[in-house]
Amino acid sequence: MRITALSGGVGGARFLRALRTHLDRTPALAGSELTIIGNTGDDITLFGLRVCPDLDTLLYTLGGGVHEGQGWGREEESHRVQAELAAYGAVPQWFALGDLDLGTHIVRSQWLGQGHSLTEVTARLAERWGLPEQRVTLLPMSDSPVETHVVLEDAEGRRAVHFQEWWVRLQAAVPAQRFQAVGMDRATPAPGVLDAIRTADVVLLPPSNPVVSIGIILGVPGVRDALRGSAAPVVGVSPLIGGIPVRGHADACLAAIGVESTAAGVAGLYEDFLDGWLVSEQDAASVRLPRARVEGRPLLMTDRDAAARLAGAALELALELRPGGVELRSAGRD
Ligand code: GDP
Ligand code: CA
Repeated sequence: MRITALSGGVGGARFLRALRTHLDRTPALAGSELTIIGNTGDDITLFGLRVCPDLDTLLYTLGGGVHEGQGWGREEESHRVQAELAAYGAVPQWFALGDLDLGTHIVRSQWLGQGHSLTEVTARLAERWGLPEQRVTLLPMSDSPVETHVVLEDAEGRRAVHFQEWWVRLQAAVPAQRFQAVGMDRATPAPGVLDAIRTADVVLLPPSNPVVSIGIILGVPGVRDALRGSAAPVVGVSPLIGGIPVRGHADACLAAIGVESTAAGVAGLYEDFLDGWLVSEQDAASVRLPRARVEGRPLLMTDRDAAARLAGAALELALELRPGGVELRSAGRD
């Protein structure tokens, strides 16, 4: 079976690692191929290095090198380079860059500088993290740089800052007036992105941030149309439980675009292509969608088994929604 997922960083990566676990534990599904379309709107250039936070979180999580407690960055990390930069007074200092993590940014920047596309570079990074052996393909949403900027107003006046500055330095505490995906007007989907949606048996939306992760990917020209036209069922998982994001500031992002911070509000952003929507059991009674099936499930990925059960539930719902039911077009290893 071919599964395609759109993903941000931590929420998406934990869900997709769990999906891979679920597939491997299920003999009929173990041969399935997973293609992940990663958000690159968080990307930023720091100290001359190209940093792709969501792609890196996906690589480290699926590759077994992530700092589990944090959900991003490398385990057993040190920060000697950053301390040295600080000693020189180099800025910014609000974005944590560990020494091992810097290795990724250095080699990525070197390969990009040699003329390789972000798709090619990401594939080379993914090899080191063993993704091909897991039948996982990680694609950036676009090879052209797109950066999410946040328009805000505070004591320093009305201005636009990079998404990372709003999220990390300001902790999303200054209300965002709007988001701007700078570069999107010139962006095209990366090679393989639209095909991955069109040829999928199932499309999954992990519980990623609906505005600055999934929302940015949906803004890449052609992606939304491909989802609308896809014969495959599209099933998503709510990142909100009882109106509260499990982590991060998705509520502040939703407020900025005038969408209520509920599982129903998030589903409304996907209503033109969504077929199935998993919400928490406490929300199940209150969410009614005109054209998607809603099911209540435990949504907290408290440990890896709970996450695998959640991923399994999303896949099961998608298989039920497939024309012809649970019969697979190509089960097993092919
Ligand atoms: P980011 O790029 O690191 O912010 O990560 P994502 O965009 O992929 O995911 C962020 C979203 O994941 C947040 O809105 C969280 O509410 C959601 N999230 C994190 N952990 C869980 C969980 O255990 N269950 C659910 N349902 N959502 C989660
Ligand atoms: Ca992110």
